[in-house]
Amino acid sequence: MPDYMFLLESRLLPEQRAAMLRVQELSAAMGYNVYLTGGTVRDLITGASLRDLDFTVEGNPSKIARELEKGGAKVLHEDEKLRHVEILFAGDCEGSIAAARDDHYVRPGTRPEIRWSTIMEDLRRRDFSLNAIAISLNPASRGLLLDPTNGLSDIERAEVRALTIHSFTNQPVRLLRVLRFAARMGFKLEQRTQEWFDLAIERDLQHTIGSEDAGAELRGLAREENPGAILKSWEEHDLLETVNAVLAKKHPDYDAINRLNKVRDDLFLAGLRPRLATPMKLAILGRLKDREQGSLLHKLEFRSAEIERILEFEEEAQATAKELAGKKMAAPIDAFRFLEKMPVDTMAQLLAFSSNSGAVSKIRAYLNKWRPLRQGIPTIANELTAIGMPAGPKFDAIVNQVFAMQLTGRGKTPEEREKILRKLSGIKEQPKPKESKSKEKKGGKFAAKAVAPAAKAAAHAEKPSAAKGHKPAGAKKPEKKKKK
Ligand code: ATP
Ligand code: MG
Repeated sequence: MPDYMFLLESRLLPEQRAAMLRVQELSAAMGYNVYLTGGTVRDLITGASLRDLDFTVEGNPSKIARELEKGGAKVLHEDEKLRHVEILFAGDCEGSIAAARDDHYVRPGTRPEIRWSTIMEDLRRRDFSLNAIAISLNPASRGLLLDPTNGLSDIERAEVRALTIHSFTNQPVRLLRVLRFAARMGFKLEQRTQEWFDLAIERDLQHTIGSEDAGAELRGLAREENPGAILKSWEEHDLLETVNAVLAKKHPDYDAINRLNKVRDDLFLAGLRPRLATPMKLAILGRLKDREQGSLLHKLEFRSAEIERILEFEEEAQATAKELAGKKMAAPIDAFRFLEKMPVDTMAQLLAFSSNSGAVSKIRAYLNKWRPLRQGIPTIANELTAIGMPAGPKFDAIVNQVFAMQLTGRGKTPEEREKILRKLSGIKEQPKPKESKSKEKKGGKFAAKAVAPAAKAAAHAEKPSAAKGHKPAGAKKPEKKKKK
């Protein structure tokens, strides 16, 4: 039995791991079998980043969702008919929980009858073999891979393979999906899938794609890392007009998409995990008038709250930029506090498209200078402890003050900081400083907390000060100075 559990453990972010354990625990308590499925397993196997966690339970996902909500998770959308819950797990991690089901088609192309089923039936009703793989999260078989349609070998061959000859007839939206997965992964269509695809296009099935299904694909597209490649593939196959005729006529704004993608890389390098679905939708629709954008989203059956958020996003981002560049934010520390609360997608929108250079340069400073400096706060706390300052409100205030000074370019070296710290605390240099025994005994709340993270912070931020920050309290530096 191949053990995929260890792969999972090494690839999940801590918050994703916590979410998985919680779902596992709740399912076990309710007596449901639970599996990781769909995109999560595919991305795990191919080495792509795990954006969200898709779970399938042999049971009722609503009951699990209700329990998760008690722990801080947020249900984003719940389809009671399909028993499918989209959820934001505690820790800001996206995912879904769905009931295992079989779609039974009385005749190809008719609406399927839904039957609650086992995981194996659920996998077989899926669109492509690479999406029809599951990993068991059940105590007796944890880590077991379920691959009833041989998806693994298709992934190895770099092919997208539809599971039945009726695949596109049953759900024409799969014409968009097959190209989306092929373009995203750089795969080709398996030979018979290509024949079925061509046949479906010949029969004009693309014009029967439902508006809600097309909307779901546009939503999926905006979450892609490289939506441009997928849009080009849809355009090449004359499929974009099935999403929206105006978008097909005016074309997606590829330039805007590329700019946003570049900003995504910058944000990623700065240590943030940007989710750019909203600005990306706007970038895709960038060549359409406001009125046309609104009408497109309505036609594709986006929810009204979603439409509002998309259409008001740009204006809100501009208002935020104005505030950031305004007089109240003149001091870097105020701009820093403001930026700490700014949603990352707003930041991305401004970096990619804003002409407000004052705001943009502050965002750049925040990403490239201020955030790394913040990691040095424990070092400042260590240094303050080292000169003999006890923990308390004054201690914290001084640390914050020094950090604020660092944002203006002061207090870069440990020596400079020591001077500042002594001045602010009023602690004079002792002629013969006593060696204290251990740091734990000194300081209080702040110092004790600060000692451990200081190593990490120092490694990231300020190497020279880091070394000093870790010396036992009692300040060796003054001794050195004396020797001079
Ligand atoms: P992404 O990374 O874009 O989220 P995904 O594979 O998770 O990719 P979703 O649209 O979130 O795609 O769907 C989740 C899973 O549900 C898919 O992996 C697939 O197994 C199944 N699925 C989605 N749409 C269909 C469909 N039209 N027909 C059959 N199965 C589908
Ligand atoms: Mg998914």
